[in-house]
Amino acid sequence: MNSASTLQFNPHLANLPVYQPGRPIEEVARELGLPAADIIKMASNENPFGPSPLALAAMEKALRQTHLYPDGNAFYLKNRLAAKLGVTTANLILGNGSNEVLEFVGHALLNPGDEVVVSQYCFAVYPIVTHLFGGTLVTVPAKNYGHDLPAMRRAITPRTRVVFVANPNNPTGTLAARDEVMALIESVPADVLLVMDEAYIEFREAPTDLLPLVRTGRHPNLLLTRTFSKIYGLAGFRIGYGIGHPDAISAFEKIRQPFNTNLLAQTGALAALDDTEHVERTRANNAAGLKFFEDHFRRLGLEFIPSAANFILVKVGRGQAVFEAMQRAGVIVRPMGGYQLPEWVRISIGTPAENQRCWAALERAIGGDALKR
Ligand SMILES: *Cc1c(COP(=O)(O)O)cnc(C)c1O
Repeated sequence: MNSASTLQFNPHLANLPVYQPGRPIEEVARELGLPAADIIKMASNENPFGPSPLALAAMEKALRQTHLYPDGNAFYLKNRLAAKLGVTTANLILGNGSNEVLEFVGHALLNPGDEVVVSQYCFAVYPIVTHLFGGTLVTVPAKNYGHDLPAMRRAITPRTRVVFVANPNNPTGTLAARDEVMALIESVPADVLLVMDEAYIEFREAPTDLLPLVRTGRHPNLLLTRTFSKIYGLAGFRIGYGIGHPDAISAFEKIRQPFNTNLLAQTGALAALDDTEHVERTRANNAAGLKFFEDHFRRLGLEFIPSAANFILVKVGRGQAVFEAMQRAGVIVRPMGGYQLPEWVRISIGTPAENQRCWAALERAIGGDALKR
């Protein structure tokens, strides 16, 4: 039998929230005794078309080189990104997923007692990073489920070190207005880092472009984060990046492990960046899929939050029960209890066939439940 540990764990680990990921297909298959091939996952905002085919081809070739360490500085990927974004490589840092870049922020800027400002219904990683470094989370009430940026500005105190804003936001899919974003950037005190998390920016046709602000170098406290996990379909490889002022980037570089992004991830990301066909196909499918769900939600009178990303939140009554019923039908969505939205589930947009199947499962799940209450 195990004895209780007397190790003196850091006290702030005691209330550190644990990230609850979307359930993996294989896990659900084992639990339900269903073949994995019969289960679809629409729970983690992944690309329903899979990885970019160009990325796959490049990675297959690179497999033979995996006895070698990757280029820790990711020369080719950084240069390609810099050219594409119109910034310099000194503005870029790569992470093992953009989640790692969010963690660099904590390492570089947070000490116990420092304040971090977030919105209600923010991405779960922001509270985790805050508590990981003993910081104090300041949560600003949402406005229509979205970020109230003026209120977030007012929540900044002399103890604030970081403000996290995801735009579009996960899990709500809401988009902050351009003028509000600009006003926030202009008014955040110079000693507070504003992180604009742009994990879903590629799904927008005409996104608010913050790159010009990085190019001028006049906003040393602005960091943008992006990822290859969503539109590029490389979530399994764990690669994302931050775009910011060279001073902040060099601080993060000191924290970064030498080989934090692996060879296949770098290779796949480089090829995926040029796969405009895959990106455009995904974006078009996403717009059609959002419309599909919105139309069906309206027809049944289900409340939903119009989404600017590749997922949609819908109010189903007992979210956990609906999630479980859909899962028994082989469709994995994401219950939102952990986000203080227990009446909602979040659905990631799938292929047209997956969307149909998801809708049928949802309609069945709520038919006997929420709608009759
Ligand atoms: C998915 C997501 C990320 C990306 O995470 P990776 O670590 O790059 O896979 C970052 N921010 C938000 C808001 C997300 O939803």
